[in-house]
Amino acid sequence: MLDVCNVLHCLVYIIYTMLSTLTKVAVNKMSYQQNFAPPSGGYPPQGAPAGGYPPQGAPAGGYPPQGAPAGGYPPQGAPAGGYPPQGAPAGGYPPQGAPASGYPPQGAPASGYPPQGAPASGYPPQGAPAGGYPPQGAPAGQPSGDAASAPEEVENYAPSDTTGLQSYDGYGQVGFQAGEFLPPPPPPSYESDAPPLMEFGTAASITDEEARAAMLEHVSQHCCYGKGAAEQMTITNITPSNALHYTLETFCEGRTTARVEVPYFGDAVDGPFNGPPPAPWNIICNPAQQFANNAYKLPVPHTEEVRVCGMCIGCGFVRCRQCGGIGRRSCTSCGGRGQHVRHEDGRRHHERCHFCHGSGRSNCMRCHGNGRVKCPHCKGAGRVKNFIEMTISFKNYVTDFILEETDMPDELVRGVRGVEVFNQSLPQVWPITTFPVRAINDNSVRLVEAAKRAHPIERQLNQRQILRAVPVTEVDYKFKDKTTRYWVYGMERQVHAPDYPQQCCCGCTIL
Ligand SMILES: [Zn+2]
Ligand SMILES: [Zn+2]
Ligand SMILES: [Zn+2]
Repeated sequence: MLDVCNVLHCLVYIIYTMLSTLTKVAVNKMSYQQNFAPPSGGYPPQGAPAGGYPPQGAPAGGYPPQGAPAGGYPPQGAPAGGYPPQGAPAGGYPPQGAPASGYPPQGAPASGYPPQGAPASGYPPQGAPAGGYPPQGAPAGQPSGDAASAPEEVENYAPSDTTGLQSYDGYGQVGFQAGEFLPPPPPPSYESDAPPLMEFGTAASITDEEARAAMLEHVSQHCCYGKGAAEQMTITNITPSNALHYTLETFCEGRTTARVEVPYFGDAVDGPFNGPPPAPWNIICNPAQQFANNAYKLPVPHTEEVRVCGMCIGCGFVRCRQCGGIGRRSCTSCGGRGQHVRHEDGRRHHERCHFCHGSGRSNCMRCHGNGRVKCPHCKGAGRVKNFIEMTISFKNYVTDFILEETDMPDELVRGVRGVEVFNQSLPQVWPITTFPVRAINDNSVRLVEAAKRAHPIERQLNQRQILRAVPVTEVDYKFKDKTTRYWVYGMERQVHAPDYPQQCCCGCTIL
């Protein structure tokens, strides 16, 4: 009987143990499902036991038997802590894709990337805002800040602050306004040379018939002049002469500098790290044409510096000046009333404005409602490239002297062709001293000497002197009872006839 009791007791105990184990498994499973969040240490490698899998190709001892305890039996010869997960280094993997020592913050190496073309040490942080530069390549025109905090847009922004910018030998303090001419190196001396031999050509004169033909041509060009006088006049005297026209041209070059800023989008920079800039007069620039006015602008090498845009303080946009940064303006269709008034059948009808949907406000057309616009100075880049720009001005200074002995106005000689008696071009000409007419010699000396002192801060490149003989023929004639004169001048045979008798339309026979 006692045996039966013992057996029964044993059975009851076994059943109880089995039931309680099943209940525990169910409860554990439930709690696992309820607490879905991974444990703070993270999950162990998927499917692996806490101690990790034994290495593939387990030793002869074979795999631990199925249902082995959580720690697993260490296989024979395996380290006590078990093998780490398959293929992983002993220390475990560092964060995904990172080297053992870890990457520096994304996108920027510890020392910072040098900008394109810049030295490894990067740009000096001159003038950089505490917040740093806006991210490079940020799409322009997509503002990311608050319009109200953006700098105010101004009509004409001109940078003026040169704080932090480098200065260079030979250039002085360069501001944003063009400065004085940079003093040129002293000119070479020509005094020791002997003056070249000067030979002079001969002038031209005209005949009686040529003088009359010139007058007829002159009259035909004026439709209201009567040509009768020209045809019937009696030429009583012809006095040929030559006016002398001496011209001295002095071709000079002047150089000025000014600071210039252009938007900087990350292109190459030629800064002071490339060496000192060449001296102002060592920069080579050849004019396209001698004895002609010309101007060129060149960047001075090695003076480029990147800095924050002074207009938008680096953010790439400025507050819209049209709407003051609000983005909305009074509706232009309804004048801000939100409605239109229509008169019909002697009554007033109020209609909601379709344009602004009755609000009386509409989006600012300039900023499209954003309240800000792309910074016009840096074109949204946030940064500008500042450099010294050299303006090279080639100027041809002309002085002249006219020797004209008739009563015709002297200045008429300037505009017509003549015969070139002398033409000389040299870096520095010798004044004419051996021409048979003394007034020419005297005035050549006077003008050449004056030119030497006239442009002290420009470099004289070339000089040219031309002496022309311009034919001027005085013609005395009689028409009806009137005795008067006219002049035929220049190779074109222009006529100067202030007293021509038939200038009025009343005497016009062509009409
Ligand atoms: Zn409206
Ligand atoms: Zn606006
Ligand atoms: Zn800007």
